[in-house]
Amino acid sequence: MKIREISFYREFKCLAGECPSTCCRGWMIPLSEEDRLRFMKEGGLLGLRLCLAASPDEPSVLNKGGLTCPFHKNNGLCELQLKKGHSFIPESCRDYPRFFRNYTFFEERLIDLSCVLGARLFMDNTDRLYFTEYEGSPYSEPCCTNDDTGYFRSLLGARQEILTELRDVSDPDKLSSVLSRTVSYCMDAGRAFLSGDTAFFEKHSLKEYPQRLSLFPFDLTLFDRLMDTGITGSLLFYKNPLLNRLCALYKRLRGKTLRTDKGLKELGSLFFTAHPKAPRLLSAYYSYYLLGYFMQSYEDYSFVRNASAGIVHLNMIFLFMVILNAGQKELSRDMTAHIISSYNKKAYYNESVLKEMYEIMRQSIYSE
Ligand code: SF4
Repeated sequence: MKIREISFYREFKCLAGECPSTCCRGWMIPLSEEDRLRFMKEGGLLGLRLCLAASPDEPSVLNKGGLTCPFHKNNGLCELQLKKGHSFIPESCRDYPRFFRNYTFFEERLIDLSCVLGARLFMDNTDRLYFTEYEGSPYSEPCCTNDDTGYFRSLLGARQEILTELRDVSDPDKLSSVLSRTVSYCMDAGRAFLSGDTAFFEKHSLKEYPQRLSLFPFDLTLFDRLMDTGITGSLLFYKNPLLNRLCALYKRLRGKTLRTDKGLKELGSLFFTAHPKAPRLLSAYYSYYLLGYFMQSYEDYSFVRNASAGIVHLNMIFLFMVILNAGQKELSRDMTAHIISSYNKKAYYNESVLKEMYEIMRQSIYSE
């Protein structure tokens, strides 16, 4: 099978004890059946600790409360890995932050941006968001059941059209225009497919779509509602300290410079003046989202939802960069990567948060 790796895939090497935002804290670690059986065979004190740490539910998880994994040592290293080797740790820890999409025609491999090093690599490679291809064996099971080859090819073509337009983005207005046109394109595609017209993407191009909706930046009422979702869940100060700080900063600024949409606009233009490459970065962030998630439409035909969730994420990243810029007047590359990884960690892996956020966006913008 053809394997397609994102260009910087092989540059990843875990920061381990040097990581400023370890992935061993802040979320549950899913265990495969194989992991569970391996752990159950372990004897002695380690076997007992594994047995107590793995939740009894199906599917089982390690670190159920989402605090710090009980095997994460003070020096930042993994006790299981140190004692038993890399092959012993849970499968999801072994793979992370690599993630795989096996579409049966080929497998795409990316690095997840919830990892702080993944986010840094992404930031260093925003002009290299392409796949390198070679023949090989897939690592993962197919992520889809659909076998409509023609539809898959045309969907891939649609993704490529959006990516091509995003590549030309150099200012916030252009970004706003591409996002709006993308959603209109997806809305029409959804209507066409529901009425049985499966050749929509062959007949229509993103180029013919005008800008209709205003999707970037969101207004403050919408941001308020998004900030009031599971994104700010319990024990955030411990599980995700940077996100907790950003949420607190938002609340503080909301009573001051961020009281009105005019205030947001002013802070936004200060931010873009201080960081002229930010529109390009945000555009690349959305492109990366599309590379990982847009093809879900192959399975669920939810074009609008799959395109829109990334627009919510992009707006949230923009908001956090703007408020940090307003609060500190300095936004380094490492801090930006840290914002991206902290946000992605919280928002991408929680289906109920995602659902909540998309629903808010849908009600606020699409049903007007
Ligand atoms: S977040 Fe990334 S760099 Fe940090 S410990 Fe986890 S895998 Fe390694």
